[in-house]
Amino acid sequence: MQTTKFQKRLFGTNGVRGVVGKDLTPDLVLTIGEALGTMRKGCIAVGRDTRTSGEALVNALKSGLLSTGCDVVDCGILPTPALQYLVKEQFDSGAMITASHNPPEYNGVKIIEADGTEMGDEETLKLEHLIFDLSFCPLLWEHVGYEIHAPHLVQKYIHAIVHHFPDKVGSGMTVVVDPGSGPSCLTTPQILTEMGCRVLTLNGIMDGTFPGRLPEPSSDGLRTLADLVVSCGAAFGVAHDGDADRSVFIDENGRFVEENQEFALIARHICHQKKGALVTPVSTSQIVEIVAKNEGSTIYYTPVGSIYVARTMRSLISEGNEVVFGGEGNGGLIFPDHQFCRDGGMTAAMMVFILSSTGQQLSALINTLPKRTMIKDKMSTSRGAKVLEDIKKIYKNETLDLTDGVKIIRKNSWALVRASGTEPIIRIIIDAECSDCGHDFHSELMDHISIINKE
Ligand code: MG
Repeated sequence: MQTTKFQKRLFGTNGVRGVVGKDLTPDLVLTIGEALGTMRKGCIAVGRDTRTSGEALVNALKSGLLSTGCDVVDCGILPTPALQYLVKEQFDSGAMITASHNPPEYNGVKIIEADGTEMGDEETLKLEHLIFDLSFCPLLWEHVGYEIHAPHLVQKYIHAIVHHFPDKVGSGMTVVVDPGSGPSCLTTPQILTEMGCRVLTLNGIMDGTFPGRLPEPSSDGLRTLADLVVSCGAAFGVAHDGDADRSVFIDENGRFVEENQEFALIARHICHQKKGALVTPVSTSQIVEIVAKNEGSTIYYTPVGSIYVARTMRSLISEGNEVVFGGEGNGGLIFPDHQFCRDGGMTAAMMVFILSSTGQQLSALINTLPKRTMIKDKMSTSRGAKVLEDIKKIYKNETLDLTDGVKIIRKNSWALVRASGTEPIIRIIIDAECSDCGHDFHSELMDHISIINKE
C-alpha cells in the first residue's frame, strides 16, 4: 500500500509550530479554532503542555471553537497521547496546544480526529483552506457553545495504561522518571507507581521555562538522570519530550539507549508475543526490520512522520491485516491495542513489563540486539529538488525506495536522502551493518551531493 505525503501551507508533519508572538500568535490560534469549529461539530476536547504561552493560546483556541458553535471540554495540562486517548474514548474531535520537543519560546497546535489520530493531510488541507479564506460559521448568540473544565479526565488515560498490564508487575523495581517539567509530571510517575515500581522523579514539577533541561530528551540533557539512575540503583531511567508522546531510556549503568535500539527491543518483545505487521518510516534503522522478521512479522515502510505510520496501521487493519506495532526511531512508539498514536507513558510502562517478564537487565537485553551503525548528516542547499532528482539518476541501477526522498538500498546498508520541508537543507541518514561500510557510503554520497550543489 502507498501513503502519499502532501505539502501544506501552514501545517507541518506534526501540526502548526512556531515562535510565540512571531509566527504563532493568539490571532492565528483563534483562526485555527474558528476553522476547526466550522469543520468539526460537536464536543471538542482541548489540552495543553506546560509552556508559558499555553494558557493564552488555549483561550484563543477555545474562543474560536465556542464562537463557531462547538462545545469545549478543557482537559487542562496533559500529555498529547492522554488527550488523544480521551478524544478516542468520548469526544468528537480534539486540539492540543503544544510544541512537543521544541525550545520554550515555541508553541503550536495539533488537531486530533475522533479516532484519536492526528488529522491527516487531506483533512488538514481542507482546514487550511478555511483558515486562509476566513470562511467560518458566523457568531450567533443562540448557537455559541458551552465550556466545561475537566482536568480529572487524565486519570482515565492513566487507568487505561496501568490496567493494560498484570497487577503490580513492577513490584521490586526502582525507576527514575524525568518528565522534563512537562505534562508527564502528572502521568508517568503515577502510572509506574500504580504498576508497583518505586519511582523517583527528576524535573518533576511542571514549569514552562524548562529550568532543568530542554524539552528534547537528548543524551546530553539527560546526564543528571543517568547519574541518578546509577546512584540509586534503578532498573532504568525514562525521559519524555515536551508533550510526552516519546520516551527515551537510560540503562542501569547510566548509558543512553539509542532510540532505534529501544524500538527494536520493544518490537522484538511484541512480535514474539503476536505475529503481524510492524509499520515504521523509511528512516528507521534496519535493526527493527531484522528483529521483526526474525520473530515472523512483516514490515511496512511509510513516509517520515508518525501520522503516516498511524494511518497506515489503520488502513492495513481495515484491509484485514493483523498489525502488532508501529513507531519511529526517535522514541515515539505506537501500541495498536492501546491507541493509534505515539505514547510515551505506555512506552515507559511497556519497559517495566519487559524487564519484569524477562528478568533481565536493560543493558543485557540491548546487547543481544543486532549491531548497526547509523550516521546522520545534513547539508545546506536551496536546490533540494534537484539534488534528489540527480541522486535518483546517479543510483538508478541500484535498488531505490522513493516513499519519502530517495532511499538507496544495498545488501548490508542503506542511505536515505530527503529535502527538509521547513528549512533549505538536505538530510542524509546512513544505516549499515558495519562502521566502515557506513562511513564509505556516507563519503560517497556527500561527494555526489556537494558536486550537484555546486553545478
Ligand atoms: Mg512530542
